[in-house]
Amino acid sequence: MVMTTTEVGIGPAVIGRMEEFEHEEVLFCYDRTTGLKAIIAIHDTTLGPALGGTRMWPYAQEADALNDVLRLSRGMTYKSALAGLDLGGGKAVIIGDARSQKTEAMFRRFGRFVHSLNGRYITAEDVGMSTAEMVNIRKETPYVAGLPENMGGSGDPSPVTAYGVFCGMKAAAKVAFGTDALSGRKVSVQGAGNVGAHLVAHLVEDGAQVFLTDIHDDKLAAIAREHPAVTLVGPDAIYDLEVDIYSPCALGATVNDDTLGRLKCAVIAGAANNQLADEVVHGKAVMEKGILYAPDFLINAGGIINCAWERKGYDRSAAMMQTERIYDTALSIFERSANDRVPTYLAANDAAEQRVRSMRQAGLRF
Ligand code: NAD
Repeated sequence: MVMTTTEVGIGPAVIGRMEEFEHEEVLFCYDRTTGLKAIIAIHDTTLGPALGGTRMWPYAQEADALNDVLRLSRGMTYKSALAGLDLGGGKAVIIGDARSQKTEAMFRRFGRFVHSLNGRYITAEDVGMSTAEMVNIRKETPYVAGLPENMGGSGDPSPVTAYGVFCGMKAAAKVAFGTDALSGRKVSVQGAGNVGAHLVAHLVEDGAQVFLTDIHDDKLAAIAREHPAVTLVGPDAIYDLEVDIYSPCALGATVNDDTLGRLKCAVIAGAANNQLADEVVHGKAVMEKGILYAPDFLINAGGIINCAWERKGYDRSAAMMQTERIYDTALSIFERSANDRVPTYLAANDAAEQRVRSMRQAGLRF
């Protein structure tokens, strides 16, 4: 009997989903011995090989994993295009619990799947992953970035990502408040993880009043010890705070029908990918509410910029300087959004698509 993808639990037909945003390739990976269940999505390789991290998450359903990898890989195409990188967009997800199910064999097996794509996809860290897993993947394929510094890699990209988010946030502040100084501004940060922790340090140093939440108390306690002035709040209470800036640095889709009525801020600027639950609906809604949204894929590009430098010979200060350009790119996107009277996410999408299209039309495909 032939089963449809809906019947096997994938949800809507996979190729139909690929057609929607013109994904080039989706690879489903399964290995009985190691328990590996993964999906690798290559969205667009016009500008270069598709570089994007692997996320390990205990998705409740395969359809959720597929949705995530399709959205995230498309976001990577836009992110690299806007950052001026010669890279395409791709992403991978591993279905599993990062706290209990990681093994060397699983990641080496995953590395073989990455290798089977012959360099069209290059992986790196994302949520639930660390440099240790990249080392195991590297045993099976050279198509991996985010290796530890003692292996010639660029190490954890989170500090660079956090710096880029900070620069993008300052650009948004300049437009929203007339000054990019964050001193005295109230900023709520959701997520005390790798990026959140570094972002909080920048904000505190700049004199911002920081409110922080996480679902893990140990992470909050560590940051509170280092920065006693930070106010800790509950995971749900973060949406009701009266702040100048809301910075989502945990997972995506936190700007949604429920939270939009609760958020009291002038700017949304954070690291999390896919912050708008529905780009079209919520991108327009934030604009109508008078909130300036700094598109996530625009301001969280520091990590991918760092990985790109790893591939051409790592230079941390060059990566930081290129990351700093996020400030100017963000200002140009906010200007485009205001001039064209379109939501900021759309202005950013247009700019990214324009770059990809112009390279394709000039016959400069990777
Ligand atoms: P991380 O896993 O280190 O941190 C995420 C934190 O969010 C964790 O501490 C987790 O406990 C917390 N969290 C999860 N659900 C939450 C909730 N409902 N409320 C409050 N806290 C919650 O990940 P990270 O590397 O810091 O990345 C954060 C976000 O930024 C992710 O969405 C990631 O995709 C994105 N991002 C990261 C990088 C990077 O360089 N690390 C680059 C680009 C984008």
